[in-house]
Amino acid sequence: MAAQRNVGRVLGASLRRFERGRRFWRHVRVAARDECWLWEGEVDAEGRAWFGKEPAEARAYELAVGPPPPARAVVHRCGEPRCVNPEHLRLVPRSP
Ligand SMILES: [Zn+2]
Repeated sequence: MAAQRNVGRVLGASLRRFERGRRFWRHVRVAARDECWLWEGEVDAEGRAWFGKEPAEARAYELAVGPPPPARAVVHRCGEPRCVNPEHLRLVPRSP
């Protein structure tokens, strides 16, 4: 019984993670691995991509790699502000 409850909890967490990812990635035009994956959700006047109150690239990084450390910011390697391809994102020290 205990093992079964544990399986239920693991499965529940996994499904919640999947659902969070699904809600995010459905706004993305996923392309080849080396191409930009353009965000098709909300974009502000400066061309930055937003998923609710969060920069879309930060959420993409979190979903693909894990939460960025607090002192790090997620930036684009490719220079395309709407890109959320995890391979085009990297961490840099947060400016003070
Ligand atoms: Zn890109």
